[in-house]
Amino acid sequence: MTESSPTTASALNADPAELAKFQALAARWWDPGSEFRPLHEINPLRLDWIDRLAGLNGSTAVDVGCGGGILAESMAGRGARVTGIDLADKPLRVAELHGLESGVPVNYRRVAAEDLAAEQPGAFDVVTCMEMLEHVPDPASTIRACATLARPGGWVFASTISRNPKAFLFAIVGAEYVLGLLPKGTHEYGKFLRPAELAGFARQAGLELVEMIGLTYNPITRRYRLVADDVSVNYLAAFRKPLATG
Ligand code: SAH
Repeated sequence: MTESSPTTASALNADPAELAKFQALAARWWDPGSEFRPLHEINPLRLDWIDRLAGLNGSTAVDVGCGGGILAESMAGRGARVTGIDLADKPLRVAELHGLESGVPVNYRRVAAEDLAAEQPGAFDVVTCMEMLEHVPDPASTIRACATLARPGGWVFASTISRNPKAFLFAIVGAEYVLGLLPKGTHEYGKFLRPAELAGFARQAGLELVEMIGLTYNPITRRYRLVADDVSVNYLAAFRKPLATG
C-alpha cells in the first residue's frame, strides 16, 4: 500500500467519524456472517452488472472507497487491473492481506479520490464508487474526481441510497433496527442522495447517464435482487464519459 499524504486536512473531502466506523469493523470485513454480510451478498449482482456493461477483462479499474476490497478483488478476478483506494487504513490492510491469501492482485493505496484524479487523470477504463457517497461530506466532489479518473469513453459506476420516507424506513429502521442487517448508526438519513441528485452531480462533471437500477432486499427469502423499476431505496448508476469533450 502506498501511503500518500492528502493535500491539506481542510481540503480533504472526508468525515473522520465516518472513517472511524469502518476502521473499527475492519477485521471482520471478509467474514460473510459479519456486519459486511450485505456487501458480500450484493457483490455478485453488482459485479455481473458492471462486467456486462463495461467488460472488465483486460481493463484498468479503480475502486474508490474500496474498504476491505470485496468488489476490487472480484473485478481483478474478472481480469481487470485494479487499483483500490480508501482513506481508512485498516480496511486497506485487511484488503491487502486478503489479496495475498487469495492470490488475486490489487494495488491498494490510501489516497483521496480527488488526489488520485490530479495524479492520474483519464487513466482508467472503469471507475467504481459503491456504498461510499453517503459517507462523504461533498459527494459532488467525489463524482467529479471519478469523472476525471475515467478515460474518454470510460465508465463510472456509483451506488448509494435514496432520500425519501421509504428509504428512511427500509434502509435505516428496517436494515439497522428491525432486521439488524447493519450496525445501528451505519447510515445518516441526511446524507442519502436521490437518483436525480446523483445524476445531476454526474452531469455537471461531464458524465452521461447510461442506466440506473434498483437493489432490493426481500426479508422473507433473504435475497437481494437488481430491479429495473425501483430506485426508491438502494440503487446503482452507470455513467459514461463522452469520447470527445467540449
Ligand atoms: N465500496 C466498498 C466498501 C463500502 S463501505 C464496497 O461496496 O464493498 C464504505 C467505504 O467508504 C469504507 O471503506 C470507508 O472507509 C470508505 N470511505 C468513507 N469516506 C471516505 C472518503 N471520504 N474517502 C474515501 N473513502 C471513504
